[in-house]
Amino acid sequence: MAKRDYYEVLGVPKDASADDIKKAYRKLAMKYHPDRNPGDKAAETNFKEAAEAYEVLSDDQKRPRYDQHGHAGVDGMGHAGQGFSSMEDIYAQFGDVFGGGSLFEQFFQGGGRRGDPNQGASLKLGLQITFREAVKGCTKTIDLKRHETCTTCSGSGAKAGTKPVTCRTCGGAGQVRQGNGFFVVQTACPTCQGSGKTIKDPCGSCHGEGAVPQKVTIKVRIPAGIEDGQRLRVSGEGEPGPQGGPRGDLYVFVQVAADAFFERHEDNLVCKVPVTYAQAALGGEIDVPTLEGQAKLRIPPGTQPGDVLRMRGLGIADQGRTGDQLVVVQLTVPKKLNDRQKELLREYGDLEDAQGEQKGFFERVRKMFAG
Ligand SMILES: [Zn+2]
Ligand SMILES: [Zn+2]
Repeated sequence: MAKRDYYEVLGVPKDASADDIKKAYRKLAMKYHPDRNPGDKAAETNFKEAAEAYEVLSDDQKRPRYDQHGHAGVDGMGHAGQGFSSMEDIYAQFGDVFGGGSLFEQFFQGGGRRGDPNQGASLKLGLQITFREAVKGCTKTIDLKRHETCTTCSGSGAKAGTKPVTCRTCGGAGQVRQGNGFFVVQTACPTCQGSGKTIKDPCGSCHGEGAVPQKVTIKVRIPAGIEDGQRLRVSGEGEPGPQGGPRGDLYVFVQVAADAFFERHEDNLVCKVPVTYAQAALGGEIDVPTLEGQAKLRIPPGTQPGDVLRMRGLGIADQGRTGDQLVVVQLTVPKKLNDRQKELLREYGDLEDAQGEQKGFFERVRKMFAG
């Protein structure tokens, strides 16, 4: 199959800045990350393709060669053109793009522990946070029901005063050999499930399980800039592993509640602010809500409904970059007027003559009906 153009893969123009390329890659990597698309081969292919494109376009030497000669120009220069052989390669190479402690890092953690047969089951949990908590980051206290080591038997599963005994089926090895002839396979002992020990007198509190379901309270740090629908992995806060294996992970699915004032558009905050006709026409200062509290904003004379005024640096801080707040002007027309106001408006109306847009519009209308 012919290779896709790297710029096309990342969805950026040929003259994209290094920053735009990084941003585009980050977005794709988040979208197609295997943790978010378990078992999805197409997502994995897209993830690798994006990594390969980023590998070349983020490199000061490879990018110009690619621009000049295409894929042929970078073949044989390290990884490029050959694709990444494994997900671990990609983690190893690009983990730092996303910065220490970033949300992305959490997706990338735990490569070594993955597949540990003794690791406990993972837990899933939904968590709703406010818009402001998502923007600023927060620490949430979560009540969780999971298994904890039984305090009566200290996790052994045996009744007080007794101990687990060596399993008779496997002689304590935890494994048994099965099969005959050429094939001999080792499997976990069916009697002791691999622990090598059996319990004669089970503990009354945990019925020999060694663990009991309990309510626990844990704290989870939500990184600033998290988006609705993102998932956080909290390492080692899942169910305990069998035979003292490591705990599984806790997955927190974050829902961000809508805000009365703000909407998020990438790193920018968008907020609609009502402006009177007089303010829009004459210009002036209006009060605008920001994440830092109320602020004054100057609006220029002749401001039109729908105009967008930018307040720099008042957006969302995410991965070392801060967006802007975009104020969308909404013109309000009063529904109730007192007599004095009506009088003034009528007087104004008498003085008003069609101009600009409006004038052009009526001229076009006249022409249409004249012909
Ligand atoms: Zn056994
Ligand atoms: Zn117990």
